[in-house]
Amino acid sequence: MKRVALLGATGSIGKQAREIVEAHPELELVAAASGSQDIEGVAPLTQVGGDLTELLEKSKPDVVLNAVVGFAGLPATLWTLEQGVDLALANKESLVAGGDLALAAWKEGGGRILPVDSEHSAVFQLLEGKESTSVDSLVLTASGGPFRGRSRAELNSISPLEALAHPTWNMGPKITVDSATLMNKGLELIEAHFLFELPYDRIEVVVHQTSIVHALVRFRDGASLAHLGYPDMRVPISYALTYPERAATPIAPLDLASGLILEFSAPDEDAFPCLALARAAGEAGRTVPCVLNAANEIAVASFLDGRLPFLGIPEVVERTLNAVDAVTASDLDDLLAVDAEARRIASALTRELVH
Ligand code: NAD
Ligand code: MG
Repeated sequence: MKRVALLGATGSIGKQAREIVEAHPELELVAAASGSQDIEGVAPLTQVGGDLTELLEKSKPDVVLNAVVGFAGLPATLWTLEQGVDLALANKESLVAGGDLALAAWKEGGGRILPVDSEHSAVFQLLEGKESTSVDSLVLTASGGPFRGRSRAELNSISPLEALAHPTWNMGPKITVDSATLMNKGLELIEAHFLFELPYDRIEVVVHQTSIVHALVRFRDGASLAHLGYPDMRVPISYALTYPERAATPIAPLDLASGLILEFSAPDEDAFPCLALARAAGEAGRTVPCVLNAANEIAVASFLDGRLPFLGIPEVVERTLNAVDAVTASDLDDLLAVDAEARRIASALTRELVH
């Protein structure tokens, strides 16, 4: 039996994870948490909001699936890594904001990180059993979102409803907007840097509209390995929860004979500046990615409320990055302070742009 604690149980990932757990008698849901929705009865131990590490302490999990959205997932990520408990990680924001601390806790705790983000699950699988010295570079694919191919000028009047209509993935609202701005791929770039410990100049992002190839690894001998599959998050969730078994899922096998379109192109960083902002923040390191993430969370929430225009998102992020000095965070409290300051500044900038 594997004891599973599920954080973010009412979300898009959380609901699919519950489906996977129900299909496998060897997985036992011992604890479940949500941000505000009632989840009584979902698991023997449940919690709505509050300090999620208290729930984790009580539930003694073998694996924690962190499917909370946003910076709010960071304490649980750090707790799980410090305890050496396996972390099935969907909450990319915690690694973006707290990558250095998470890496230190991971080394110290000695547990595993099983990525749930589809691209990172793919890279994890492609790298298994390989010498790190044989790896040349990673390639993360991006669907390009609903506005792929549009110029910057054509993005001016995008409404939240248009941004929420993602062509290939059905996800929560925040990550769907992040996919439309390409910030999602920027966050994933930083996530990949920490998970696979590669410098940014060896992680490439390419646009691949059909989301069939999730990631590629180029090796030093000229060979590249790719991970293919239909875009369905139940695959990486199941892989992480049943690792190393690779249990069966209800997903159809890949049908090549009926035709697959595998096209790749460079992202348009002029129309979608969030990707370059994230790359620069990752390269700057220290608390810069934490500021990027906080500003993005504020800007996306304001866009979803119908206040901030779509192109205001990269503007708020860039101006917040310029306004907050980078420091080195030595613990969670330091990051909480930086996150709070960045949110204050991003909120003020957002108000300026709205009025
Ligand atoms: P969602 O908005 O559908 O769900 C978020 C969940 O987090 C909800 O259960 C909510 O109650 C919970 N939550 C929010 N704030 C909380 C708090 N303070 N304390 C406890 N719980 C809180 O989001 P989602 O699409 O399921 O995404 C979750 C995470 O997984 C995000 O980090 C996202 O980037 C990542 N992810 C999602 C997908 C996807 O297909 N949805 C794919 C890859 C990665
Ligand atoms: Mg992803």
